[in-house]
Amino acid sequence: MAKKKPKYVYFFGSGEADGTSQMKDILGGKGANLAEMTSIGLPVPPGFTISTEACAYYSANKETYPEGMREEVLENLAKLERLMGAKLGDSENPLLVSVRSGAASSMPGMMDTILNLGLTPTSVQALIAKTNNARFAWDSYRRFIQMFGDVVMGVPHHEFERALQDVKDSVGKSLDTDLSSENLQEVIVRYERIYKRFTGESFPTDPIDQLFKATNAVFHSWNNERAKKYRQMNDIRGLLGTAVNIQSMVYGNMGDTSGTGVAFTRDPSTGENKFYGEYLMNAQGEDVVAGIRTPKTIETLRDVNPEVYQQLVDIRSILENHYHDMQDVEFTIQEGKLYMLQTRNGKRTIFSWLKTQVDMVNEGLITKEIAVSRVPSGEFGKLFAPVLDTKSIRDQGLEEVTRGLNASPGGASGQIYFTAAKAEEMAAEGKDVILVRSETSPEDIGGMAVAKGVVTSRGGMTSHAAVVARGMGCPCVSGAGELHINETKKTLEVNGHRLSEGDYMSIDGFTGAIYATKIPVRSSEIVQVLNGNMKESESSIFQNYKIFMGYVNELKTLGVYANADSPNDTKMAVALGAEGIGLCRTEHMFFGGNRIMSIRKMILANNVVEREKALAELLPMQRGDFEAIFIELHGRPATVRLLDPPLHEFLPNDHTSRHELALQMGITVEEVAQKSSSLHEFNPMLGFRGCRLAIIYPEILRMQVRAIIEAAINVKRKGILVHPEIMIPLVGNYKEFVFCKKVALEVIEKIFEEQGMHVEYKIGTMIEVPRAAITADEIAKEAEFFSFGTNDLTQMACGFSRDDAASFLGPYVNDIDKQFYDYDPFATIDIDGVGKLVDMASKLGRSTNPNIKLGICGEHGGDPKSIAFFNQVGLNYVSCSPFRVPIARLAAAQAALIAKDSKK
Ligand code: ADP
Ligand code: MG
Ligand code: MG
Repeated sequence: MAKKKPKYVYFFGSGEADGTSQMKDILGGKGANLAEMTSIGLPVPPGFTISTEACAYYSANKETYPEGMREEVLENLAKLERLMGAKLGDSENPLLVSVRSGAASSMPGMMDTILNLGLTPTSVQALIAKTNNARFAWDSYRRFIQMFGDVVMGVPHHEFERALQDVKDSVGKSLDTDLSSENLQEVIVRYERIYKRFTGESFPTDPIDQLFKATNAVFHSWNNERAKKYRQMNDIRGLLGTAVNIQSMVYGNMGDTSGTGVAFTRDPSTGENKFYGEYLMNAQGEDVVAGIRTPKTIETLRDVNPEVYQQLVDIRSILENHYHDMQDVEFTIQEGKLYMLQTRNGKRTIFSWLKTQVDMVNEGLITKEIAVSRVPSGEFGKLFAPVLDTKSIRDQGLEEVTRGLNASPGGASGQIYFTAAKAEEMAAEGKDVILVRSETSPEDIGGMAVAKGVVTSRGGMTSHAAVVARGMGCPCVSGAGELHINETKKTLEVNGHRLSEGDYMSIDGFTGAIYATKIPVRSSEIVQVLNGNMKESESSIFQNYKIFMGYVNELKTLGVYANADSPNDTKMAVALGAEGIGLCRTEHMFFGGNRIMSIRKMILANNVVEREKALAELLPMQRGDFEAIFIELHGRPATVRLLDPPLHEFLPNDHTSRHELALQMGITVEEVAQKSSSLHEFNPMLGFRGCRLAIIYPEILRMQVRAIIEAAINVKRKGILVHPEIMIPLVGNYKEFVFCKKVALEVIEKIFEEQGMHVEYKIGTMIEVPRAAITADEIAKEAEFFSFGTNDLTQMACGFSRDDAASFLGPYVNDIDKQFYDYDPFATIDIDGVGKLVDMASKLGRSTNPNIKLGICGEHGGDPKSIAFFNQVGLNYVSCSPFRVPIARLAAAQAALIAKDSKK
């Protein structure tokens, strides 16, 4: 049987295409959607896509093509030439193409695209004759040399920019569009010289040679540092490579009836259902996003060319009805005729996510399930991001010094720096940084990632800075044209104000306002409504949030609890949707005021009598705290962990505090110091802590259990439901648990008798010592619940401590050649190792106690990827910090949808 010839090239053109939008894996997002748009009848310039499989082969085989690929490309080129009635690089009727990268996940600006390929000294003459537009032809040629030189041969692009500027200066013109055909030819002469100087060869004049060199450069760009870093930062994994799209050119730079633009079918910042876009006439390709000139808003196109405007408005609804999501499109107008060059699901702010999805459910465009499955849970935290304090602006009568575009929402205040490197350096020193640039480029990503806010003086809402900042949830004001930035002097001037590096600036990404001073930032609208500081009816953001969370609640099955140690945290957690407390750390209550004094007395006690005296002081304080927490919970379960940390942590270690303590306790400083040093441990995390404390000093356990149960009874007496769960930490051997449980039960029975009243309660344990996970069946015979303490479990299972791992764990995870762990195991559960322990312990536990309640209270409880795993294991709940509760709820609903899908 003859083996089927592998296919590497997919054609699109004239209403037909080999590919579809479902084939993103092998055609990349751009290629798949060019095919799809062609099939649904939109005006797409014809072309073909070389698959990601070819790229994978190229990367794996010393940059060579798979067998047959080159021939397939030439066949498809011939087909394209027939369709267009033109020939690549022809001396009479030249075809020009773009060579565009595009992987399955969008990586905007990360890889490379070359326009106007096929121009040579002969074909440029043919283009002049054909279009009767010499200026346009020379402009296209100089752009091609520049892009090809930069992208394919690595000629530094500032060399070209300098040459262009020199010519502009010499003829006294400031805009590219002001250059004449002769001026442009002068530019080309200089470009060719630069090209030769840097590459040692002349600019290639064989168009086929140009085509394959460009293809190689696109393939190669898949593995450039920028692209690798971007994939890592955005958790893009498992892709084959980039596809290469070779597409016939259309020209936005043919004069005043031509232009190029980008648009979103809805507002990417707020989500409002209105057409949203920008364009420039007489411009090509990246001109809009690169901030060369400040673009015009899409509505103004109605006056420039009403037919094209209407056509775009129609395409807007065709695309939304076809893709059922907000689209981000690129288009070009060539002499009054519209062409579509790209569509993809639009990146947007979390506010826009919520509004677009809620609206689309209401419009009947999508189901609630689809809405929930799409919203990125990793972004959800940004809903709670801070904003500038408007009150303080009003009170101090602060005035904005200028206003740019509200490119990415959120308020930020900090010190200004003019380079990404400096921003990174200052942020590492703990400063709040505002990164100020004329316009950002992909090299600035690192600086943007650490900045509190980003400001640019050029570029629109779809500029690099705007797009990337929105993606990062970093507040951004772009296109603040009144800022005059002097990057060498590290100063900026704006309307009579002069700021230097390190001066304060505040920005409002919701309005675009810029202030030349420090302004406090305060909590988000949602938080304000939850705190009762703002009316629900005043915040449309809150209303969308509430409707969306309604969908989430319908779909999720996993419970979401919060880790909370105080009545305030508990209140916020409940407002954010927590169904209980999964971890209340009692030791956090011991700090502050005379509480720390009492616990120190307890620790320094020489005998049981002294210790019990100190504990008696602590009892009413703990009981009071628990009462307040239980009241906030209104019958939701509260898991209270008994004292866990090594006692040493509570003692003062500086001389002055020791002195004070000695004075208060009426003992000598030496005694304090001596006791402190006797408590010193070489490895405190594996030392005298957790249930070991309760076993050696049962009176501590007795006091804590008494505080919990008495508080519960007091709350019950008020007519409020209450469900305490007593959690014994750090058990490794079921006998430890049995011992603690017995002491606890004695106390509880005694209180019930004293009070003549019962409350329901549970006693269970944390599973955080690997031995406990391994012997979980034994422990489950006695325990009513398990709570996986995945922080300690990770430390002990992997054998490295979270606090000491920084020096090697970074490289372990991030170095491209290592990646021993897929993710930081303290942030995302290590599924194959620690996760296996969790799964095993759950099964063992349920084998001897089918009703055992299972949860997790480590850091991982708020991490979406870990939550998906815990849902799969079948835990009853996850518990995380209050502000992660909504994120966890969304992640739990998404996990439930995935589980439902895989059952089908
Ligand atoms: P990116 O992925 O960085 O957006 P693209 O491949 O989309 O890169 O191309 C960069 C720019 O060039 C875009 O503005 C795009 O619309 C434009 N462009 C690409 N191909 C063509 C073409 N065949 N004709 C005209 N403009 C094009
Ligand atoms: Mg693009
Ligand atoms: Mg622990």
